Amino acid sequence: MENPVKNAAQKTKGGSAIRPTRAEDYAEWYQQVVRAADLAENSAVRGCMVIKPWGYAIWENIERVLDRMFKDTGHKNAYFPLFIPKSFLEKEAEHVDGFAKECAVVTHHRLIAGPDGGLIPDPKAELEEPLIVRPTSETIIGASFAQWVKSYRDLPLLINQWANVVRWELRTRLFLRTTEFLWQEGHTAHATEAEARAETMKMLDVYADFAENYLAMPVIRGPKTASERFPGAVDTYAIEALMQDRKALQAGTSHFLGQKFAEASGIRFLDATGTLNLAWTTSWGVSTRLVGGLIMTHSDDDGLVLPPRVAPAHVVIWPVFRGDETRAAILEVIESVSKALRAERYHDRPLELEVDLRDMSGGDKQWEWIKKGVPVRIEVGPRDLAAGTAMVTRRDKGAAGKESVPLSELPKRIPELLEQIQKDLFARALAERDAHTVAIDERAQFDRFFTPKNANKPEAHGGFALSHWCGQARCESAIKDALKVTIRCIPTFGIAGAQAAARITEPGQCIVCGEPSQGRVVFAKSY
Ligand SMILES: [Zn+2]
Repeated sequence: MENPVKNAAQKTKGGSAIRPTRAEDYAEWYQQVVRAADLAENSAVRGCMVIKPWGYAIWENIERVLDRMFKDTGHKNAYFPLFIPKSFLEKEAEHVDGFAKECAVVTHHRLIAGPDGGLIPDPKAELEEPLIVRPTSETIIGASFAQWVKSYRDLPLLINQWANVVRWELRTRLFLRTTEFLWQEGHTAHATEAEARAETMKMLDVYADFAENYLAMPVIRGPKTASERFPGAVDTYAIEALMQDRKALQAGTSHFLGQKFAEASGIRFLDATGTLNLAWTTSWGVSTRLVGGLIMTHSDDDGLVLPPRVAPAHVVIWPVFRGDETRAAILEVIESVSKALRAERYHDRPLELEVDLRDMSGGDKQWEWIKKGVPVRIEVGPRDLAAGTAMVTRRDKGAAGKESVPLSELPKRIPELLEQIQKDLFARALAERDAHTVAIDERAQFDRFFTPKNANKPEAHGGFALSHWCGQARCESAIKDALKVTIRCIPTFGIAGAQAAARITEPGQCIVCGEPSQGRVVFAKSY
């Protein structure tokens, strides 16, 4: 059984396994959850992270599900070079402006011994044209599309790439903002504006579907304002989620690029009448940032909480020994239960099981798996052996989530339990978001809403403010300068309840200047 002394050592004096708690210091709590779950760590390269097996397995599940969703919507995977010639990036003026400040640039192709014995770039090996390590691939993929597209019969061209990108960041946080990160980028070309716009919205919906139904993370969907658009895009749409510290996380974006990138790259096609036309293009992406969103949406003061649909393991099972006489019998039960469970499925994949036979105390095992966020834990000890049962515990419910289940019922009960956990996590996150989504019409109340009484204690303030905005950039920047609050999106879907939805589109007066507004937008602090 659990060793109470060891157990106490795992939990700190305040009664939680993670210190500081969310209420004490949210930012530090996040780092400690990542560390305690063994998801990732900082590397020797500043700003770049090492994604450890448990964290990478979450990303692989994200990748697996999204990849199927992209293929189901007609897209095909391809791979393009890591290096982008500088001249390519220069082709679209707004695009280069947006990325120039965070580019890693390759200038040489050889090292030689330097005067101090170390290696230096060989001055004779300087590249004629510097290469940029891709921050995003519109221009390099555009060059290929220009070759591939000749006639309207070649359209639509629907391509996705799974890759890494580099954006030189000065202030980084594991998963949320790193210099190198993993992502997918969809790039498509179409014969008409209507088709390209439909594609942009379709992929935004795919992202929202994935965020809500797999990550159990409710999102608001809608267009960004001009100042928050992807550099060079005509329109950018985003899904935005609210984290437990009441800050928004932009969790995915879908861009309608008009004909700007097609013009820059020369993507032209002959239409049915033989006329040469510019194509219409889109791009869309999500990244390892989703893992950060997942952590911040569900985890608690004991560590990571994982939605079953993306958890690396659904269940962990371990034996609890007391003396040697029942050891063999308990191990036999563990083996037969594991076999029976592995034959079952949950949602779209076989049940994934960790069997923990390590020689360590039950208490240590328990806390390790709590901190790693495994949705369901199963223990089998001498008492269970006699009763023909197992002790089953839900990660998301604390002590209340314990039940004794007859061994024969486990194969049926576990998938049911996982589905319940998945639903409960979404419901809890949605209730949390709705509790902190407030319609605000007065500037003084708006300022109070976004002014923390204590910067590290999120519970006192903040969230999504649904307020009127006249559409002028100067009102938007006035709010940003005063409060570091931005317009997350002009919401179209995803605000809970018909009542809130109705309030979105009613006319009113701008929260800053008082001029007429056509509807409310979503203001929040953000990551
Ligand atoms: Zn205004």
